[in-house]
Amino acid sequence: MNIRRSVVAVSLIVLMLPIVAVGQDLIRTATPSVRGLTETDFPRVKEVVPDVYVYEALTGPPDDRYTTNSMFVVTEGGVLVADGQGDLEETARLVTAIAKITVQPITHVVICSDHGDHTNGNRSFPDGVQFIAQKNSLPALERAATDGGVMPDTIVDDRLDLQLGERDIQILFLGRAHTGGDLFVWLPDEKILFTTEVFLNHMFSGYRSAFAREWLVAMDAAEELEADVYIPGHGFVDSPEILKEEWFEYKNHLQAVLDEVTRLHKSGQSVDEAINRADFGPYSDWSGADSQGPVGIRRIYAELNGEIE
Ligand SMILES: [Zn+2]
Repeated sequence: MNIRRSVVAVSLIVLMLPIVAVGQDLIRTATPSVRGLTETDFPRVKEVVPDVYVYEALTGPPDDRYTTNSMFVVTEGGVLVADGQGDLEETARLVTAIAKITVQPITHVVICSDHGDHTNGNRSFPDGVQFIAQKNSLPALERAATDGGVMPDTIVDDRLDLQLGERDIQILFLGRAHTGGDLFVWLPDEKILFTTEVFLNHMFSGYRSAFAREWLVAMDAAEELEADVYIPGHGFVDSPEILKEEWFEYKNHLQAVLDEVTRLHKSGQSVDEAINRADFGPYSDWSGADSQGPVGIRRIYAELNGEIE
């Protein structure tokens, strides 16, 4: 550890870790301290396969830290970034980390999640970058444009196919899920799927702008791609095997939350009663459950009441 540290720049600790080397007996968690990780271990860059990397930075309140993940793909035609970070400083660090790996310029940024923790640093990307977003994200991006966000140059309806250098990159809208404008980045050659906040590794889902029933349908559609690697928007970028297991476990969690809230709704409980009585079983222990559980109950009640278009 000390040797590694000493060879990297003091301003930016970038640990290059191949994701296949992660042990199988890892504790399933999104909480750094549970894995013995501290603030100084981040941000870190992991190589998924040659030329495809994930940047993990810590975010959240002091007592509830977790990672926010950006993917970047290096090609002879420039660098594509999938999701930025939550503030100008962190996104500037991401830009610096990319520049340590390649001389290629950042040419494309895909706004896969329109939430501020992935967009509020977008002004730190260099001039001339092409920002890409799904059309449903436009209202959220307009609201956030004063916070360090930017408006997209290219708007995707269902799909955008890019060829950068020799590489094919597909940007896919597979239905409304966590934000409503959720975009996947799919690398068909390596079967790597950047899932943004459609999938979090071992973290309770955020529901404030979610479409709980359609979310599961979008995940079904994503599975038809038969990805080997599912990269989460938050939570650790573990080995491909663990990530695949956690993708399905995350789906179980979404289904369990939907089923429990639907049961309470059907039995005539008010939304406040439902918040008191909801039992999410094993998912109650997941990072974010205390804060996001009530948000989810309110959102799913609104959906079941027909109050969400
Ligand atoms: Zn987020």
